[in-house]
Amino acid sequence: MPQDPNATSRDPHRTAASVDPRRRVPRTDAVLADPQLIAAAETVGRPAVKAAVVAALQRVREGELPPAGAVDAALAALPRGPRPVLNATGVVLHTNLGRAALSTAARDAVAAASGHTDVELDLETGRRARRGRATLAALAAAVPAAGDVHVVNNGAAALVLAATALAAGREIIVSRGEMVEIGDGFRLPDLLESTGARLREVGTTNRTTLDDYERAVGPQTGFILKVHPSNFVIRGFTSDTPVTALATLDPPVVADIGSGLLRPDPLLPDEPDATTALTAGAALVTASGDKLLGGPQAGLLLGDTSLIERLRRHPLARALRVDKLTLAALQATLTGPLTPTWQALRTDPSSLRTRTEAVRARLAAQGIPVTLTESVAVVGGGGAPEVTLASWSLSLPESYAHTLRTGATPVVGRVERGRLLLDLRCIPTTADPDLFAAILAAAGAPTAPAPTVAVTLGADGGVGATSPSAVAAAAEDVTSSASAGSDVTSRASAARPAVVTGRPRATSGAVVAPDAEDRLHAGVPGGGGTSGSGVASGSGAGA
Ligand SMILES: *Cc1c(COP(=O)(O)O)cnc(C)c1O
Repeated sequence: MPQDPNATSRDPHRTAASVDPRRRVPRTDAVLADPQLIAAAETVGRPAVKAAVVAALQRVREGELPPAGAVDAALAALPRGPRPVLNATGVVLHTNLGRAALSTAARDAVAAASGHTDVELDLETGRRARRGRATLAALAAAVPAAGDVHVVNNGAAALVLAATALAAGREIIVSRGEMVEIGDGFRLPDLLESTGARLREVGTTNRTTLDDYERAVGPQTGFILKVHPSNFVIRGFTSDTPVTALATLDPPVVADIGSGLLRPDPLLPDEPDATTALTAGAALVTASGDKLLGGPQAGLLLGDTSLIERLRRHPLARALRVDKLTLAALQATLTGPLTPTWQALRTDPSSLRTRTEAVRARLAAQGIPVTLTESVAVVGGGGAPEVTLASWSLSLPESYAHTLRTGATPVVGRVERGRLLLDLRCIPTTADPDLFAAILAAAGAPTAPAPTVAVTLGADGGVGATSPSAVAAAAEDVTSSASAGSDVTSRASAARPAVVTGRPRATSGAVVAPDAEDRLHAGVPGGGGTSGSGVASGSGAGA
């Protein structure tokens, strides 16, 4: 028998104080009998529920909370896993919000696969079968240009497997213009070198020719790596060497396309896709599953049959393999309906305007100070850094940002010029009533303390708010910025689009030299001559 939960309410000192409001403190066991808390105990366990109730009742005792608010306060304080959030940021693939939202088909597939499944068993013969064979077949069917395919934990794992199996102790040739940081301080060169491969950097930040690659090829070459700089672009006096040209050289070409676009799409003409890269001669393509593919976190490897077989048989492959839930979600993403990612990308501004205006009118009728405003949405997640999507948003006072984020249904928007913008593009239409209810609840809630975190949400803290690249930068690191005050400043400056005037200085050694990087992020004029017109527009940490 656990400790008597009513010990406090039997305290003679308390019962004596007949006019003391503390007398109205409900009994612990009475609160614990609330059906919602009983249900919650099934998930989080009774000790956690009881601790939350005791803490809530203490707040009631201290006059901080009305007695009737104890249950809700206890529910709100329960520990929980990742919570569903309404993504009103206008960033379609927001890394801090879990990148791609799965389709209903993929969610159903995950639920169906969550018990025992035939993931590695042929039910017909009763024998062991290739793990995830149906998913692999679906991926292969989606990209006929690939000889074979393999799936690992994420895009980084795909690169690690390729580097380990094909270049450990040897060299990977890569352009200085493609030594990229993906986000959250995660740098591709560091990842590759962690496998024991050596990087052989060629060319310069802005120009790398076929000659540069050719001179570097030798007996030590494992492969040539072509990385899609997915979160920034360099313009001006530039030239890079396409896969078609690289494929004329001896070593295999590995193309890290990043976004997981399987075929070209007219909406994103500059975004590389697996089919085109393979047709151009790449021996191997690596990509993520939860970016433009719109599926679960996964790393896709597509390409030459014998190379894929080498990767599949490498001991490391076992450590990077995906679970049955990922396989199920990926397959349904590949064969199922248009993903939420593409629905969001394809939503036309006029229907979005009509929809947003409908929500605005309902809110205004309740006396909420909300307006309709034109805004800009972006792909985010380290994809299509220059593509902007004309959008419409609800505009609310900035003070709503914190209240909405911490409500029962968290709503995450972005702050621009002192206003909270809520872009409905990435919110399923079916969730509009939830959004409405959340805003209504936030309007009734006591005003939150001035939210320092709002800076991070907008991540633009007054710096070039309307710039799409600022929006894209906002896709990164809400939480880390929120928890580290000093980080806010650096994120804010990272959100600024970088404009490098003049020809970027040739750097010696690593292109990601602190100097070059600071310049890119801070948007200060670069050194060097005035002859060129290189403009680097950064989307900050995109993935
Ligand atoms: C996103 C990205 C990665 C990393 O993929 P994850 O799935 O996040 O591990 C690697 N390379 C490029 C070019 C990317 O855009």
